Amino acid sequence: MKIAVVGAGVGGLALACLAARQGHEVCLWERFEQPRPVGSGLVIQPVGLAVLDHIGVGAQARSLGAAITRMQGHLASGRAVLDVSYRSGSPGLAMHRAALFGVLWQAAQAAGAQVRTGCEVHEAPLAPSGRRRLCLAGGEVADEADLVVDASGAGSRLTPLKARALAYGAIWGTVAWPDGSALPTHELRQRYQAASRMVGVLPIGRMHEGDVPRAAVFWSMPTADLDGWTRTPIEAWREQAQQLWPEMAPFLAQISATDQMTPARYAHGTLGRPHAPGLAFIGDSAHRASPQLGQGANMALLDAWALATALQELPLVQALPRYAALRRWHVRLYQGMSAAFTPMYQSGSRVLPVLRDHVLAPASRWPGVPWLLSALVSGNLLPPLAQRGGGLNGPSQARR
Ligand SMILES: Cc1cc2nc3c(=O)[nH]c(=O)nc-3n(C[C@H](O)[C@H](O)[C@H](O)COP(=O)(O)OP(=O)(O)OC[C@H]3O[C@@H](n4cnc5c(N)ncnc54)[C@H](O)[C@@H]3O)c2cc1C
Repeated sequence: MKIAVVGAGVGGLALACLAARQGHEVCLWERFEQPRPVGSGLVIQPVGLAVLDHIGVGAQARSLGAAITRMQGHLASGRAVLDVSYRSGSPGLAMHRAALFGVLWQAAQAAGAQVRTGCEVHEAPLAPSGRRRLCLAGGEVADEADLVVDASGAGSRLTPLKARALAYGAIWGTVAWPDGSALPTHELRQRYQAASRMVGVLPIGRMHEGDVPRAAVFWSMPTADLDGWTRTPIEAWREQAQQLWPEMAPFLAQISATDQMTPARYAHGTLGRPHAPGLAFIGDSAHRASPQLGQGANMALLDAWALATALQELPLVQALPRYAALRRWHVRLYQGMSAAFTPMYQSGSRVLPVLRDHVLAPASRWPGVPWLLSALVSGNLLPPLAQRGGGLNGPSQARR
């Protein structure tokens, strides 16, 4: 088939790679002239790593990123209110987006996917032939495709998804891992002030071979304040962050201008049916959530794998509903969990952080609960592809 993939992000690159290897004629359409990742670090969970292994880039990704074995969150008093460890031998992998983008970009091109950059796709209407036609900004119309895959992320112009904007976002930046920092190099650490402030440090390894180890730092704030971020006096902000978490000082010392921190807004929503005739939605164009559970990139990778699997096994008209069925319950579970947990960590609520600190934190230590939390963050609380649990549950592939 002729497949047009819109967006050279995490999901689009993975899908382009898998579909091209199946012998389809794949073209990636990307709005940037120079494809580039936006933002700082993210965590690929064990289920997402299984997809990277399947694509054949897992080892390269691991050589750049930082293995994450545990996530801990503390109050300013030092009391731990979140403590989740990954299963032994199956850590998450934190990476800078540029590093993840680089390995997937090379793999997609090596697989034979064509790339068209500087092309912003505005529409993909059905043509009388029953195929889809890509309409670009500037009026250009591309050749018809049997299948258009919308992987254009949270800003997609093709998806019918109407996501609910969340009240809290964050600023994210990347700094060198400071020599002599007492913070562990294999743990995500966060510190909270009620739910209205969250500051965090995530070790993310190197951006490329020969680079120094780096960290992503983030600071949450109401979305309404994000617009004014660039006018914030940087020293006053550093002082505020340092008061909440003194160990962050050597990370904060590297941030001398507000433009070193990128504002990120979050939204929540899920498409009931992530497909239409000749059109499939994957990644953030199909479902959006805050990064609280660290699942967005995983979901995009899993969607790509599910769609490629369905296309390999069935004719197109049956493959699209099959793709949706493969992912339905996993997507619903994680979207539901994200909606439930996010306000406990990022909201103006006074009640939810009390519940988090005095009910959830003690309950998380009850027998069996650490195992559940570990499965939740690893992305395999449910099989990520329905009826294929054994083949995609992470740990065995992630260790390879
Ligand atoms: C601050 C932050 C932290 C996060 N942390 C994590 C984490 O720890 N773990 C995790 O798993 N996820 C995390 N996520 C979520 C994750 O980044 C996204 O869910 C993931 O990148 C979605 O992948 P995607 O392929 O759908 O879209 P993207 O990776 O966003 O790619 C979309 C691509 O489409 C292109 N594009 C957009 N519009 C058009 C158009 N009209 N025409 C052509 N091209 C277009 C864009 O330029 C881009 O290249 C985080 C997100 C944010 C904002």
